[in-house]
Amino acid sequence: MTGSIPCLLYHSRMPKAAKPDLFTFVAEIALQNGQPVPITCNCGGVITIMPPMQEDLVVCPRCESRIKINVLSGDPGYVMGMTPDGETMLIPVQGSSKEKLEISAEERHRVLDEIKQKGRGKV
Ligand SMILES: [Zn+2]
Repeated sequence: MTGSIPCLLYHSRMPKAAKPDLFTFVAEIALQNGQPVPITCNCGGVITIMPPMQEDLVVCPRCESRIKINVLSGDPGYVMGMTPDGETMLIPVQGSSKEKLEISAEERHRVLDEIKQKGRGKV
């Protein structure tokens, strides 16, 4: 590592090489259907992506946030995330099936608890 220069900096001079402001998760099944997938931004703006995805970075038409899209295989429903305070939270995977997404607040708490239990042993 001695004397290594981060040469990526020198090569990333393309005007589009901007950092994403936000990121979201999209279920692979939604893309496999071949249907447009609406991505809801934090501001309430909706960006529709069309499979097959050409870009994994979209811009919200309302607040102009750049949103990085991470495609997750299958129909995960929710994934575990972390708030800036380090609290575990569930992030909805956009495009997941309704059965997976529309769970009650109780169910959500139960899933969160499970994740926390599991996470305790690790790291
Ligand atoms: Zn927005």
